[in-house]
Amino acid sequence: MTAADRASSGPPPDFRRRGHFLRKSQGAALSARLAGGEVAQPVAREPAAAEPARESCLEVMDDKPGTLSENSELLFSFGVIADIQYADLEDGYNFQGNRRRYYRHSLLHLRGAIEHWNTEGRLPRCVLQLGDIIDGYNAQYKASEKSLELVMNTFQMLKVPVHHTWGNHEFYNFSRNYLTNSKLNTKFLEDQIVHHPETVPSEDYYAYHFVPFPHFRFILLDAYDLSVLGVDQSSPKYQQCLKILREHNPNSELNSPQGLSEPQFVQFNGGFSQEQLNWLNEVLTFSDTNQEKVVIVSHLPIYPEASDSVCLAWNYRDALAVIWSHKCVVCFFAGHTHDGGYSEDPFGVHHINLEGVIETAPDSQAFGTVYVYPDKMMLKGRGRVPDRIMNYKKENASQF
Ligand SMILES: [Zn+2]
Repeated sequence: MTAADRASSGPPPDFRRRGHFLRKSQGAALSARLAGGEVAQPVAREPAAAEPARESCLEVMDDKPGTLSENSELLFSFGVIADIQYADLEDGYNFQGNRRRYYRHSLLHLRGAIEHWNTEGRLPRCVLQLGDIIDGYNAQYKASEKSLELVMNTFQMLKVPVHHTWGNHEFYNFSRNYLTNSKLNTKFLEDQIVHHPETVPSEDYYAYHFVPFPHFRFILLDAYDLSVLGVDQSSPKYQQCLKILREHNPNSELNSPQGLSEPQFVQFNGGFSQEQLNWLNEVLTFSDTNQEKVVIVSHLPIYPEASDSVCLAWNYRDALAVIWSHKCVVCFFAGHTHDGGYSEDPFGVHHINLEGVIETAPDSQAFGTVYVYPDKMMLKGRGRVPDRIMNYKKENASQF
């Protein structure tokens, strides 16, 4: 199997173990350890108290979320979609051979999602595209630019702004330099906070924050800030990242997690630099101070209970430690896993891994719209994306 094959087919079957790292009961202990050691001066908060099951709320979800609760006023909404992985290819299968990939139909799925968002009674403020917009196979067929153009032309039909996240498949097709100068760079949509230069991201990574609605800040993270993908092999950063990868993965095939105690250390994943985490910490500090609610977006998931352990960001614990040292984060959206996942962590942050478009049959769908209320966010999933209720932490829910 070539590297390109593996790149396009995802991790091998034996390594896809779901959330075996960290049970919820272990979360608080882990968070205390992480908050104390691995990130500069985080202050761990008390975990959110156990809350009663909310599943019954799902029964009342319908197409008019504004009518869900007499006390809830819909503030705004936003769309989410992940892993479109378009290629002009016949259908194929993932590496395990058990999940079909609809390379061409993924574009039709995207069109369907856009038509839905465009015809919503109240337009979403924006759409979050969670990465892997075209498949790595395009590089093999020298079709990367053509496929990207096709998908981006489709996105042009969307009446609202789209924020693009970068995933591993972006780097199978393009260099980081190319992406920085491409339409996949939506940093021009960022908001800047006057008199707070510490909240301005560096140009060394692709991350920014924006405010689609007053008091709600969205942060787009670069999960391949530390990565051997898309970087010039002669650069110091490549050597630094290769060293990190090799220290944790002795396999000759760096895409293989075989035998690893930390199976996320594979080539198709990446991590967050300390510089980016420090920046994230500054933005979250500002949001805490200003009583904002925060949504974070990254191609790679960071919470083991919501993801296959082999799909996590290399240093997911560092990202969790930063997030857990603040009270403002409501939810963390990621792609990459294709089969989806959800868990609320001990600090009341909701982790959602969105089901991937690429493995969605033509007669189904894979996207969602998140409706934002004063006390919660509600994901209305379409097709194989389930509905989710994301209540705010209790200490903050009454601020609006
Ligand atoms: Zn991916």
